[in-house]
Amino acid sequence: MTENKKSNAGKHLTGLIGKGYMDLHQRAVDGAFCVWIAINVPAEVFAGFENVVYAVPESHAALCAGKGVGVSMCEKAEAQGYSMDLCSYARIDIGNASDNGKESPTFGLPRPDLLISNNNTCSLITKWFDVHHRTWDVPHFIMDIPFCYEPQKPKDHAYIVGQIKALIRFIEKLSGQSFNMDRYTEAVHHTWSGIREWKRFLASGKHVPSPITAFDSFVHMAPFLTLRGTPHLKTHFTLLADEAEENLSSSRFPVEKERYRLFWDNIAPWHQLRKMSRRLADLGANIVGASYTSCMGTVEGSFELYEWDEKDPFDYIARTMNSYMCPHGMVLRHKAMARAVKALSIDGVIFASNRSCKPYSITQMDQQRKIRDEVGVPAVLIEVDHADSRKYSEESAFVRIEALLEQIDAARSRGLV
Ligand code: SF4
Repeated sequence: MTENKKSNAGKHLTGLIGKGYMDLHQRAVDGAFCVWIAINVPAEVFAGFENVVYAVPESHAALCAGKGVGVSMCEKAEAQGYSMDLCSYARIDIGNASDNGKESPTFGLPRPDLLISNNNTCSLITKWFDVHHRTWDVPHFIMDIPFCYEPQKPKDHAYIVGQIKALIRFIEKLSGQSFNMDRYTEAVHHTWSGIREWKRFLASGKHVPSPITAFDSFVHMAPFLTLRGTPHLKTHFTLLADEAEENLSSSRFPVEKERYRLFWDNIAPWHQLRKMSRRLADLGANIVGASYTSCMGTVEGSFELYEWDEKDPFDYIARTMNSYMCPHGMVLRHKAMARAVKALSIDGVIFASNRSCKPYSITQMDQQRKIRDEVGVPAVLIEVDHADSRKYSEESAFVRIEALLEQIDAARSRGLV
């Protein structure tokens, strides 16, 4: 299933993402209005305009880290005085912008006409986009989206709808283009129907042994970020889900002797995907699920698909604007993870404390305790950085992961699981 095994879905993904970036560059050259967005800005809005394209610097940074150029891009930002303590996505992007994407596998990103950040994953991204705002004198729209420590309140929902409408008016004014409600509604339909297929793909991981790994989901989530609101989402995720189900019916499993079923909490370690998945497979361990890729298209406290009645696209988008993990308090995070642990028959949880993403990592020690004490599943905390490999030690991480596997074995030998 992984891209390096050249499955049909892997080949399709490579073509899709490559073409997506090339089309983005070409349309920008041809005069499209270009926006850069934080990952949870509702990109479907842009499809409501005739000629607006968007780029996602976080997704581009992850791609650069996966291709092995993350560290040298970080160093370019550090040479300008930015601290190593800043999120590595920000450092990669600032480094990339400093030399117009010389090392980027996508030839960088086209220069934006508008920056749109969103303050409910972290406030760092608003400061990061302000760097470009000052350097290039480009407008910066900050979506103010409330954190959620409990289910979204009607007043918060209405406030988010107001933010989306304000964004639309701002783009109309800057671009001179008119917003078309039918095109926007169609784009939301594309996203929602694509996520349905994504959920079918993830659901195949419930089978023991699993026909998928979380590493597949890390790799294949990219279209959700860069091609939202397009029919490509459904096409790709349907292919992916079909392939997983075919592998299941043909008894083709990525970890043939699956002895340990694990769950991952935090952003993917982009620079380690191949190495980590192989080393885990050698140990008979399969990370079958991850909070990072399970939260797409959900609402707080659950990894289940949030259904849309296909009526009001503003309502659906506002309701799912908090789907990512960072805006959630510990209670909601624990609730979603505890359910997933049961649904996926998880034996142990890896909490990846991410040196870059503090908002994702902040509650993990308490969550580790709750998973152990309240769900009865052992858990371990390892140190990673999602895109800066200088802040990751493979040996230290695996010492802890192997200790987790030993805990699982010990519990089994005592007949506790
Ligand atoms: S700190 Fe986390 S939420 Fe903020 S930009 Fe980095 S990865 Fe995204």
